Amino acid sequence: MEWTDDFGFPPHVSSAERRQRALKATADLRRAGRELWPVSVEGREIATTFWGRAWCENLERYSDYANRLPRGRSYLRQGAVVDLQIARSEVRALVSGTHLYEVGIRIAPVKPEAWQAICETLAGEIGSVVELLQGRLSDRVMEHLCRQETGLFPAPREIRFSCSCPDAASMCKHVASALYGVGARFDEKPELLFRLRGVEEQELTARAASGIPLAAKAPPKGRALDAALVEELFGVALEPPPPAAPKARYRGGSRPGRKARRASGT
Ligand SMILES: [Zn+2]
Repeated sequence: MEWTDDFGFPPHVSSAERRQRALKATADLRRAGRELWPVSVEGREIATTFWGRAWCENLERYSDYANRLPRGRSYLRQGAVVDLQIARSEVRALVSGTHLYEVGIRIAPVKPEAWQAICETLAGEIGSVVELLQGRLSDRVMEHLCRQETGLFPAPREIRFSCSCPDAASMCKHVASALYGVGARFDEKPELLFRLRGVEEQELTARAASGIPLAAKAPPKGRALDAALVEELFGVALEPPPPAAPKARYRGGSRPGRKARRASGT
């Protein structure tokens, strides 16, 4: 049976049916030899750790996205994101809907001067990458990293997306579900936030250990190039991302509570 397309009045698809379609798509793709990293969300919350939640909260800050995000949330909960891979400046996803759609999301890297400012402001305050990835540093540090415009999260003008569905002119539910899927993935692998934004989290702690001000060092050539070519980058097809290696999975469990974070600093 052919499903009707996304235009017009598609028949009501129950959540159970959508889940079935996604499972079938996953099984078919795997049978065809494709390696998949599906996003599964259990329970009400899309993300439960510090970075996963902070990513979702950032998306919800922007009125540009407000109308489209809720359907993406339901799609993700129904298991529609059958594959999601995060690489530098890029997210690729396969989302099961009426058909199986390919989603591409490009995110500009953090500008070198913004990263430099972050490193300088937080010099000496980040002693451990593990604590950073677990979101267990002081409120001051975590708030600074999450701050709108000057933190690690992208604004809508830094995000471009595409989808193979007929609704791709605006943010469709497939793109929205992939955007939320990124937050869910950060629950398991928060270091992917830094990969995605083109920065190295170790630089934050290296600065603390060496005491060398970042300004004394020339910015790495590659990153300066990125900043100059951000616009161009959005128009250029990248190589397919390397598969997210299933190693060293973050097992931090649930989001560190306020209490834990308060206990670790001011
Ligand atoms: Zn779409």
